[in-house]
Amino acid sequence: MSEPPLPYSRQVIDDDDIAAVSAALRGDFLTTGPLVDEFETALAAVAGAREAVVFANGTAALHAACFAAGASPGDEIVTSAISFAASANCGAYLGATPRFADVDPATINIDASSVAALASPRLRAVVPVDFGGLPIDPAPLVAAAGGATVIEDAAHGLGARYASGAPVGSCPDGIAMTAFSFHPVKSITTGEGGAVTTNDPAFADAMRRFRHHGIERDRSKYESDDEGPWYHEMHDLGFNYRITDFQCALGLTQLKKLDGFVEARNEIAAWYRDRLSGIDEVSLPAAATGDARHAYHLFAIRVPAAKRRGVFDALRADGLGVQVHYLPIYRHPWYRRTFGYEPGLCPNAEAYYESAISIPVYPGMTKDDVERVARSLERALRDS
Ligand SMILES: *Cc1c(COP(=O)(O)O)cnc(C)c1O
Repeated sequence: MSEPPLPYSRQVIDDDDIAAVSAALRGDFLTTGPLVDEFETALAAVAGAREAVVFANGTAALHAACFAAGASPGDEIVTSAISFAASANCGAYLGATPRFADVDPATINIDASSVAALASPRLRAVVPVDFGGLPIDPAPLVAAAGGATVIEDAAHGLGARYASGAPVGSCPDGIAMTAFSFHPVKSITTGEGGAVTTNDPAFADAMRRFRHHGIERDRSKYESDDEGPWYHEMHDLGFNYRITDFQCALGLTQLKKLDGFVEARNEIAAWYRDRLSGIDEVSLPAAATGDARHAYHLFAIRVPAAKRRGVFDALRADGLGVQVHYLPIYRHPWYRRTFGYEPGLCPNAEAYYESAISIPVYPGMTKDDVERVARSLERALRDS
């Protein structure tokens, strides 16, 4: 194949990003400096939340949010069967038992009635996912959670808007915290990085402690006498989940381009919809409706399950970095072994998994690239 490979997603790094990182590297602070606070302030503004707390990666962000929610042994958390394992691991790290709600077959977002069926006094947190960048509907999920803390996993959803028009991350309707990832395949990147937004300062405090070994920063909260300027107290078993200043420099320049990135992803999605809607054997992902805005982290089509493997292999052979998002989390060996989950637990998730293929979508893709994917797909469906 002479044409260059197209990944399913990738970052966009411009000269202004490189200049900002270089300037940070020449400055006095490589970590725990002013750019961390600046990035948090800018992110909170973009997300429409009171607070943003940034982390070394999105998984750390979810872990911290579950900690702030109080997840501990004996508790349960519920997340979507169709997500990256981190959406469930975050509760397991704290000794809670992850349980899995099925997805709505139309949106592949977690199904509120399936969440309600898992509600119990032991339920500590519900972790819905904006799958592929399509925002959840907050109010029914918060109702289904029955008092458990709702932590939105918006690793796919930075730059998206709910049907109300409010930005994902603004924590409306009783959402407690919203977690983001800045991995290079996501809406913006800091290399590795993540964040949680919240309107509750108590959650933000707990997460900032957790990010820095569990050390309390507020001297007025010390449990023993303050013995001097060197003295500090560790109140929780936290981690070192800090992000560096030069990563936050990148985050700040990337954040300025977020709207353009999401706009570009929406344009590519519109080209795909135009070009693929006439192909019988292809089902397109749900579009955003009303005032909602999709972030299109993924463009996940469905093909007949019997043809999926053949189509996937043919697209890969054509240099297209297609992927399948995701194996239902409970089918991973650690989940089967540890909690006894069996395949088939969530029928909609299973059916989706058998037929899904994520095709390339990222800013910088051209209409010709979309045409190349479409032709490859048509050929693959014919030959499979
Ligand atoms: C990427 C991702 C994460 C984890 O983010 P990292 O920054 O890679 O740790 C969590 N949940 C979902 C759904 C993701 O796609």
